[in-house]
Amino acid sequence: MSDLPYYLFPALLVIIPLVLHVRAKRQASVRHLAVLKEAQEAGLIEPPSLHPVVDLSICMGSGACVKNCPEQALGIINGKGVLINPTHCIGHGACAPACPVGAIKLVFGTERRGMEIPQVSPDFETNIPGIFIAGELGGMGLIRNATRQGAQAVKALAGRKTTSQADLDLVIIGAGPAGIAASLAAKEAGLRYVTLEQEDSLGGTTYHYPRNKLVMTAPMNLPLVGEIKVREVSKEELMDIWTSVLDKAKPNIRFSERMEEITPTGDTFMVRSSQASYTTKNILLAIGRRGTPRKLGAQGEEQPKVVYRLIEASQYQGKKVLVVGGGDSALEAALDISEVAGTEVILSYRGKAFDRVKPKNRMRLAQALDEGKIEQRLESTVQEIKPHAVVLNTNEGVLERPNDAVIVCAGGELPTPMLKKMGVQVDTHYGA
Ligand SMILES: Cc1cc2nc3c(=O)[nH]c(=O)nc-3n(C[C@H](O)[C@H](O)[C@H](O)COP(=O)(O)OP(=O)(O)OC[C@H]3O[C@@H](n4cnc5c(N)ncnc54)[C@H](O)[C@@H]3O)c2cc1C
Repeated sequence: MSDLPYYLFPALLVIIPLVLHVRAKRQASVRHLAVLKEAQEAGLIEPPSLHPVVDLSICMGSGACVKNCPEQALGIINGKGVLINPTHCIGHGACAPACPVGAIKLVFGTERRGMEIPQVSPDFETNIPGIFIAGELGGMGLIRNATRQGAQAVKALAGRKTTSQADLDLVIIGAGPAGIAASLAAKEAGLRYVTLEQEDSLGGTTYHYPRNKLVMTAPMNLPLVGEIKVREVSKEELMDIWTSVLDKAKPNIRFSERMEEITPTGDTFMVRSSQASYTTKNILLAIGRRGTPRKLGAQGEEQPKVVYRLIEASQYQGKKVLVVGGGDSALEAALDISEVAGTEVILSYRGKAFDRVKPKNRMRLAQALDEGKIEQRLESTVQEIKPHAVVLNTNEGVLERPNDAVIVCAGGELPTPMLKKMGVQVDTHYGA
């Protein structure tokens, strides 16, 4: 009798899992390639902050980086690690230590697009004495890093024995994680300070995370509050934490007040905001890197019904909404709102076509237009925003439409030109 069955069974025990493994890897490779192509077609190829560069001569495609990337920014294509979703990378940096062969290094900027990072001392002071920078603006993202830097910067400046004629010891700009921790540290140190936040809530970038986003962080030590033991929380739970910090410690944060200009006046500074002017000995810029949303300059834009980001589509139920802009965020806002019951959505864009958006959004828009869910107004601009209407200049003339809310997604003014104007030294990093 042949020995074949005797050998076949153990051989199959090895071959079947191997075949399944190879097939799964091949399928993952195809999936990751599709994600990469979609990002490339939409022009979303530049990572915003610290990001991985894979040395392909060392990478052996273990997939450890993929498993450890909470944002699904990495993939394995043809057996090698690739940053397939560059704009999703937020600089966790968890991929580098996870790589078993050390093939990943973390860098700022790329060959194509440099990343500008201000020079700061170990005390977070810039080349301009009295101006400090903490958090993501200084190049180091993530919630825990930002809170740590905000508190450390304030401790460093509070330790200096200085006198000045200024009204305040410190103006903190921004109430994201860095600004929150800095405000608490300023209160703890007994400084005369104020924090200015252009939005109506604290949290900074975290306030704009998608609903239910899983936030990966690490325990943080906040002045006056103590240790916050978090590792994985939802966006909503994180916002509850920030709110309880505000209720408990009551830092002096002025919301909906935007810093417009900083001017040196001798050895102090004048900070002009949208509401007031302050003289101060020190300034801490905790403004992140997202910038300030660009305004339309239309009459009536200052009304509270005008916002610059979509937070929650469901809040527009039954409302007449104008969305302005031609990028993915405008399209996604218009599409998400159009799916909420009873909404009427107008999408206004000054360009002739939505030519720089993800193909998926273009397809979703075509379908929404077919179904009459969105009124598209290309080559239009907003002339006036009235309390219950909007006036658009269109290629069919001036149109007035009833309106309850306006969402402007017209990009942002980045903070680095402002830093350079103030004389802060900024280095450009090209991924080296
Ligand atoms: C989609 C996404 C997911 C992320 N997920 C995670 C995660 O899971 N874990 C993690 O650790 N990190 C995550 N991050 C990164 C993290 O959110 C940021 O690194 C962190 O918020 C940076 O904090 P910050 O205080 O430096 O700046 P920001 O949070 O950006 O806050 C800056 C604040 O300054 C205000 N400001 C700006 N200009 C002015 C002005 N002129 N006047 C007044 N106020 C002004 C802004 O309104 C804002 O509130 C994520 C980022 C993104 C985009």
